[in-house]
Amino acid sequence: MSQEYPLYVILLGAPGAGKGTQALHISKTLGVAHVSSGDLFRAVRESDTELGRLVKSYYDKGALVPDDVTIRMILERLRQPDCVTGCLLDGFPRTMEQAQALDAALKPQAKRVDKVIYLHVSESELLRRLSGRWLCRNCGASYHTVSAPPKQEGACDLCGGALYQRPDDTLETAKSRLEVYFRQTLPLIDYYMQQGKLSQVNGGQSIEAVEHAMSGALRS
Ligand SMILES: [Zn+2]
Repeated sequence: MSQEYPLYVILLGAPGAGKGTQALHISKTLGVAHVSSGDLFRAVRESDTELGRLVKSYYDKGALVPDDVTIRMILERLRQPDCVTGCLLDGFPRTMEQAQALDAALKPQAKRVDKVIYLHVSESELLRRLSGRWLCRNCGASYHTVSAPPKQEGACDLCGGALYQRPDDTLETAKSRLEVYFRQTLPLIDYYMQQGKLSQVNGGQSIEAVEHAMSGALRS
């Protein structure tokens, strides 16, 4: 691991910003563990532990997992040996309460959040990416209006069947997901900016260009 790089890095980015791809790139570049809250939720939920049963109970009810439970899960993960020298946090913190809990947990160990990267993509582009998925009613083939459009609008290339959108992929759902994300997360961007830790990377470019900008931001 290179000394010039910080150790505890947070990657912020809205749904659809391409965070997953970039998180793998950054954790590899830094040589630190990739802690994805989404992956961790899945693993914990399936584990036969007290925390696992607690998390599962919220999922089964279709309820949001409260902040204190999310915080507990992440802080337990950060105590694992592979996170002792640092990690890349992806999907956490998402609220001010989570950010403050993270700072409070690192401080007694003389550690801190070193760097926060905000992968910025315009709202119109995020909506395009999130709401572009269409499926064939007949054969199930998948299309995307941006990355894999059908030859003829509304019709399947393979069988000519009609294309439809699942409720999760509609513009309405995309709008409300983004609304929740920005309401919760914009205060975090201010919080880390005021501490001089925030670098913004333009996520509207090609994957290679984003990776290059990421590497630059990590060195700054
Ligand atoms: Zn089809």
